Amino acid sequence: MNAPIFGFDNSYARLPEHFFARLSPTPVADPKLVQVNDALAGQLGLDPAMLRSPEGIEILCGNKLPADAEPLAMAYAGFQFGGWAPQLGDGRAILLGEVTDETGHRRDIQLKGSGRTPFSRNGDGRAVLGPVLREYLVSEAMHVLGVPTTRALAAVTTGEEVRRERALPGAVLTRVASSHIRVGTFQFFAARQDTDALRQLADHAIDRHYPDAGQSERPYLALLEAVMDAQALLVASWKLIGFIHGVMNTDNTSISGETIDYGPCAFMDTYHPGTVFSSIDHQGRYAYANQAPIAHWNLAGLAQTLIPILDSDNKKSLELAQQAIDTFPAKFEAAYNDGASKKLGLETTEADDITLMTDLLDVMADQHADFTLVFRRLSDLDDETGPEDDTIRTLFDDPAAFDAWARRWRARLKQQGVDSKLRRERMASVNPAYIPRNHRVEEVIRAAEDHGDLAPFFKLHGILARPFDEQPEHIEFQKPPKPEEVVHATFCGT
Ligand code: AMP
Ligand code: MG
Repeated sequence: MNAPIFGFDNSYARLPEHFFARLSPTPVADPKLVQVNDALAGQLGLDPAMLRSPEGIEILCGNKLPADAEPLAMAYAGFQFGGWAPQLGDGRAILLGEVTDETGHRRDIQLKGSGRTPFSRNGDGRAVLGPVLREYLVSEAMHVLGVPTTRALAAVTTGEEVRRERALPGAVLTRVASSHIRVGTFQFFAARQDTDALRQLADHAIDRHYPDAGQSERPYLALLEAVMDAQALLVASWKLIGFIHGVMNTDNTSISGETIDYGPCAFMDTYHPGTVFSSIDHQGRYAYANQAPIAHWNLAGLAQTLIPILDSDNKKSLELAQQAIDTFPAKFEAAYNDGASKKLGLETTEADDITLMTDLLDVMADQHADFTLVFRRLSDLDDETGPEDDTIRTLFDDPAAFDAWARRWRARLKQQGVDSKLRRERMASVNPAYIPRNHRVEEVIRAAEDHGDLAPFFKLHGILARPFDEQPEHIEFQKPPKPEEVVHATFCGT
């Protein structure tokens, strides 16, 4: 049988050979399909029935290649927890190729967990079923929540065991991204003082992600600014839904501005700005509230790599890079404040609107209130105090602390004079009822890994597909964990 054709056009594979290593995935013993994302397949011009067929499954696990694939592992470097790692690269991922989606955008199709590569170092090149299911659930949830993200096209189990703290079932995730170019990809070439490669990579990134920057007088400066804009929007949208990425290393910072690498990520339940989930983040470097400063730091790293190509005069380059990077906090603030106003139902702008938000967050932190539920239930409140206030008051240790804040909020609503029903509808369309709560994700993982039971995965996936709908039949899934259900750490050893 002829291998199917995906319609690949592989622009990255046309870059110089030292940008990657060409190799095929390592075959697996006994692949079984977990899930194909039919809707995404359609958007990519792929036939979901083909992907679900025996031959499709052989492709999704890496046992067979599409006829037009040019498989490769990308080279990159990165700063991990602040420390320099000169040689990372796809240690367990293979880029099969690039397709053009229905909107005309180029998308990478990559297998993750597909075996060792020249970049594997001590790793086995494999992925474990649990983390694959977490990435599938959380990345697809992020997408429907409106956050730029890599997507999950499929998951298959391999029929092989992967050794971690114990033997666990192996799996392969098919990840789709606007590209897999990272800040760390630029750092890989900058560290080698390979200015030609840097220029080629920058040109490629401009063509692919920011064609307008190519029209600018200073395309590489415009690229930097565009990446900063995209990252400002991204990290603001994380913070506005209580998402903690957990491993914001420069190799996990995408040039396209998509969320990438769902390792030790999680959504916060009880609000606290210092929340950390990653079991290896001992210093809280990537805590919830640190995410914007860390993005700034990562982007300063990108700016530094561009210095050799920003201007022929090094001093001028430095000046341009510094000026650009200094604008990040303001870019972030603008994106965050805009989203915060929407969360509070504010449709006009007043100077101290952001104080209303930060004061609410302070009260939530003091009073141990659930991040998602506070905003969701706020969306149900009328302009006037009423009995439904109790649905939110009870989320605070001391409900009176909320009452004081609510009086100010209602005074502000009165001043803008927007119809209450309309305001509530708009708030309910940005404040989700359902997020992938960590204890629910953990439940899915335990059922799948320990009992081979995928039913909880399908159920949670279905609920998360409609995060803004009330879904009264699934009300249990809105709730924060009971004390004994709280998950304190997610793991990086994925
Ligand atoms: P991450 O922590 O997932 O961002 O990965 C950091 C680096 O480790 C990247 O170069 C990955 O490709 C590599 N890596 C992670 N897990 C494995 C594994 N099981 N086998 C080989 N390389 C891995
Ligand atoms: Mg990574």
